[in-house]
Amino acid sequence: MKIGIYVHVPYCAKKCRYCDFASAPIKGREGSVGPYFARLWKDIERTGRYYGGRLEADTVFFGGGTPSLVDAGYICKTLDVISKHFTVNQGAEISIEANPGTLSREKLASYSASGINRLSLGIQSFDDGVLSVMGRIHDSMEALKSYELSRRYFNNINLDLMMGVPAQSLKIWLDTLSRAVGLAPEHLSFYSLQLEEGTPFYNDYKNGLLELPSVKEDRLMYHEGLKLMEAAGYRRYEVSNAAKPGFACRHNLKYWTMEPYLGFGSAAHSFIGGRRFEDGSLPVLSEDGALSEEAFEAVVKNSTSFVSADPGRVNDLKGDFIFTQLRLADGMDRGLYARLFGRPIEDDFGIPLRKLIKEGFIEEAEGRIRLTASGLDATNPVMEELLSAL
Ligand code: SF4
Repeated sequence: MKIGIYVHVPYCAKKCRYCDFASAPIKGREGSVGPYFARLWKDIERTGRYYGGRLEADTVFFGGGTPSLVDAGYICKTLDVISKHFTVNQGAEISIEANPGTLSREKLASYSASGINRLSLGIQSFDDGVLSVMGRIHDSMEALKSYELSRRYFNNINLDLMMGVPAQSLKIWLDTLSRAVGLAPEHLSFYSLQLEEGTPFYNDYKNGLLELPSVKEDRLMYHEGLKLMEAAGYRRYEVSNAAKPGFACRHNLKYWTMEPYLGFGSAAHSFIGGRRFEDGSLPVLSEDGALSEEAFEAVVKNSTSFVSADPGRVNDLKGDFIFTQLRLADGMDRGLYARLFGRPIEDDFGIPLRKLIKEGFIEEAEGRIRLTASGLDATNPVMEELLSAL
């Protein structure tokens, strides 16, 4: 059975002011890096044994945190351990997230030599004012240098950008995007800033110290940005992701199409056999530490159909389907829904679907149900309306 593998590296050089990801500054924690990876390798080995070497990884993704912050030896050894306990397919997409200011020629060469073939660079902005407000460790010059250096080793690069950030006007955003597009990366991610409770941004906002672009400005940035990317040959395939033909992120697509994946490391989740698991917490191991042939067959079957899951869990999975599939530019796949849940999507969501189509937020085309341009500006309310049917 094909799966994706996610590896979480929870260290950052410094916490950015808007970030609530599972990550912490490495300063003062240097001594924990070795033990963290040692435990990670054990979890990978234990899980590989549990599935008896019968899982094939066709995507691997190192995320964080800042995976490029730690010694490249940890990353390369992790890939070795994965390859030993899982089959990593020839042609697998193997990605790593990296931040400007943490890359070197040596690191990039090691990544490339170990089989990593996709690099995701956290540029966020090419405007020094915006970068400083966000609390990033790099400036625009360093971002550019990191990209140029990475280009020597990788022919599949994503740039992560952020919009709707304080100190960012439409002009500043489009200037960042033009510079990004001018570099011709294969992939672009463009997320709107979300204020997360507990972050310095959130507290500043609550205390009236942070001025954000209005919702109208944020939407203008999004739609004008899309036009710019599309004119340059990028196709938006998800609400916040666009790629040149053939370069959509295969790993992230697994999340959006409910395919199985295993996650390792702090705060990582797994989804396999129709079940979600936290950080390495697998079902009870059989006596010899491996699933029987019969039990493995059940995992395979339950990964491609959720019909036999208990009713409470089926509803959660249906919610996940809406939440993930609706973000795809192609929209929700009726055929996939019927295969996963054993019934047409209308049987569960017919009433809100008809209402949302009538209101112009979603439309149907070629067996799919997708957001219209108005729906794209109201993703959360549209999802809430649909989920209210469960
Ligand atoms: S580098 Fe990324 S993960 Fe780390 S604090 Fe900044 S936004 Fe969060």
